[in-house]
Amino acid sequence: MGDPKCYQFNLPKTRRPSEVWLVDPWYPGVQKYWPTCTTKRSVDPIMDMKAVIIHATAGASSEGAISVMKKPVEPASFHWLVPDEDEEQHGHLVWACVPEALAAWHVRNACSHPDVNEEAKRVNHWSLGIEVVNTQKDDPFSKWQVEATARIVRYCWAKYPNLVHVVSHAKLDPTRRYDPGLNFDWNMFKNLVLNGSEDDIPALVASATPASKIKAKAGSSCCNG
Ligand SMILES: [Zn+2]
Repeated sequence: MGDPKCYQFNLPKTRRPSEVWLVDPWYPGVQKYWPTCTTKRSVDPIMDMKAVIIHATAGASSEGAISVMKKPVEPASFHWLVPDEDEEQHGHLVWACVPEALAAWHVRNACSHPDVNEEAKRVNHWSLGIEVVNTQKDDPFSKWQVEATARIVRYCWAKYPNLVHVVSHAKLDPTRRYDPGLNFDWNMFKNLVLNGSEDDIPALVASATPASKIKAKAGSSCCNG
């Protein structure tokens, strides 16, 4: 399945989606923690967004993941959290945790890689971070978790014109991190990001396609209903 330290692909300009719908309510009460675990971005929060970093929490619950934002010493943060399969939100929503306009703290400032934004450091300033709840100990990711993570990336791709890199935390910090780990099906994830799914197609685009094609897609809006 590959090595998490090598997980990366780049987004081709030609296939950027025009619009992607995301159901991402705020994690309850999360805004109280922003002042102590986020930074104002040092770059343009739209035009300079270059990467999405994929993480796994090494914990068993969303609540546990959020607890790192409250830590008095060395807190961490991330923009989205993908619930685990035994949580009631699984299959329905991902949690928004930090405003996209702020830098979340999910990669160490000293980390960089030649394949990612010309080896620039301070990755948090020009990236968005997704955490997927997974213990990282023989814990499979659900298919929905991979799909939901891919959908968040497609949402970012549609929104940020210069977004290009999708990369694992392990690649950026290989001596300390292994996430999202071997159990995250990177090939499936990459395919979902690059090719999307039927319900990503906005109504206006769908109506411009041949009638036969529209009919084939009827009733497939499983996540929008
Ligand atoms: Zn990580």
